[in-house]
Amino acid sequence: MSNYRGRFAPSPTGPLHFGSLVAAVGSYLDAKHHNGKWLVRIEDLDNPRTVKGAADKILSTLEAYGLHWDEDIIYQSQHNAAYVEAFHQLKETGAVYPCCCTRKEIADSALHGIDGQIYPGTCRNGIPPEREGRAWRVRTDMQQTVRPEPVEWYTGFDKLSPNGVVVFDDTLQGRITQHLATEVGDFIVLRADGLFAYQLAVVVDDALQGITHVVRGADLLYSTPRQMYLQQLLGLNTPGYMHLPLVVNAQGEKLSKQTLARPVEKNNTASALFDALVFLRQQPPAELRLRTIEHLLAWAIANWQPAAILPTVTSAHSN
Ligand code: GLU
Repeated sequence: MSNYRGRFAPSPTGPLHFGSLVAAVGSYLDAKHHNGKWLVRIEDLDNPRTVKGAADKILSTLEAYGLHWDEDIIYQSQHNAAYVEAFHQLKETGAVYPCCCTRKEIADSALHGIDGQIYPGTCRNGIPPEREGRAWRVRTDMQQTVRPEPVEWYTGFDKLSPNGVVVFDDTLQGRITQHLATEVGDFIVLRADGLFAYQLAVVVDDALQGITHVVRGADLLYSTPRQMYLQQLLGLNTPGYMHLPLVVNAQGEKLSKQTLARPVEKNNTASALFDALVFLRQQPPAELRLRTIEHLLAWAIANWQPAAILPTVTSAHSN
């Protein structure tokens, strides 16, 4: 057993579709190829979007595909205390501030960035006395704390440069450079509805679970610098990152509940798993389509070649 610790972190907003199966398979194979552990975390923090029963369905689908996890499942909904603690840590250093802006006010003044609107910093220096804070944002211009010594699996995240640029080497997508203040803006860590934002929760949980390698869909590629920034502010280690091409439908839309992606089948598992391997360009021998998932997975673990995956951000699939 190596000290590799990977994870799959689905949001229980619906059944597993082909796109999420690809992310599960990619993270599983990378972990198992490295003799590591593969953990599953249910990201059920956003309770307005959480669908009752979806988490159990996802877990039984993973099992039907032979994707057995190590250690206990973590549920974000049970981790609020850890997020509160991290939030207080940020507050103590003056890294966060309350923001009273409504969606409409932001929409009226914000520029559009790489991942939505760039918050123009309206509330950075305080909110008008007659208004009340709604959400809490983190300043993107904080001086960095000294990061812990690089560890063995350190993959080239070369701290924040003095001008606030995050640079890292994604195993598949190559070098990613992002200037947080101008490309993203101060981002929300505690939402107006009182829930902690995904960016904060994911950083806290990846650290709590001791994750060394994050393998996930490329829809999160441009969230990674925000997560690295929070890791620095909180004094946490930064895992290695690999972002897999996102499965899109013929219209170029990401597979999701909104785009009516079909759930993956629970009966024809070997065939769907075979398709996931083909999508990841692993070239499984054709006869394996008719074998059991155990055969397929054993072949795929032994022959896992991330370098064969196309480093594109999206790739179409007919599901
Ligand atoms: N829960 C997120 C999703 O389902 C994934 C989070 C992550 O892998 O960091 O899109």
